[in-house]
Amino acid sequence: MVKEIKLVQNVLKANERVSEQNRNIFAENQLLAINIIGSPGAGKTTLLERIIQNIVERKAIAVIEGDIYTTRDAQRIEACGVDVVQINTGGGCHLDAPMVQEALTNLDLDELDLLIIENVGNLVCPAAYNLGEDFKMVVMSITEGDDKPEKYPRIFQEAKVLVVTKVDLLKYNQFDMDRFLAEVRGINPGIKVFQISNLTGDGIKELVGWLEEQRNYKREEQICSV
Ligand code: MG
Ligand code: ZN
Repeated sequence: MVKEIKLVQNVLKANERVSEQNRNIFAENQLLAINIIGSPGAGKTTLLERIIQNIVERKAIAVIEGDIYTTRDAQRIEACGVDVVQINTGGGCHLDAPMVQEALTNLDLDELDLLIIENVGNLVCPAAYNLGEDFKMVVMSITEGDDKPEKYPRIFQEAKVLVVTKVDLLKYNQFDMDRFLAEVRGINPGIKVFQISNLTGDGIKELVGWLEEQRNYKREEQICSV
């Protein structure tokens, strides 16, 4: 029993080490890296398509797609005109830092300034594995229910930004947005929140504007420290 716990700790420790290496790689290349985490069906890939379609400088973006099986999501993202690397975990329910490091060897990092990593659809363990990203983005749809933050607190704690999707369905669901946001802020008072609809496009411009700001901060940070 005790040994098993130690094993998990060692795995996480090893992951932390590699995630620090990834962080340095991102810094050297002045690359903003975002780790998107959410349940299957939350709308992560569709959100990614909307972000790419609305972002001004599309050329310098690449995406790493994490999936258990298939390249379905990667094909959708590739159709948006950006570089994509697919990681198939072959049963694994999260991405880890070594997988991402391996994927990076397939990208021309010099040319990039925004890397978006779509994690395996899962609200639980991806929150425990840092990939070296600048921040985590949690994506949750209103159809998942307003009681989720306290049931899955870790990801709401770890994320810098929360994107609430499918708000066009609010009128058909018993989802109490005020209750939900109060619970989220009880866990993470500073979290940035966007309410969006991939279907109608509501809220996408605001989110993309914020992402562009983060991208610029990262560039300026690098310029100042040189
Ligand atoms: Mg997806
Ligand atoms: Zn997992």
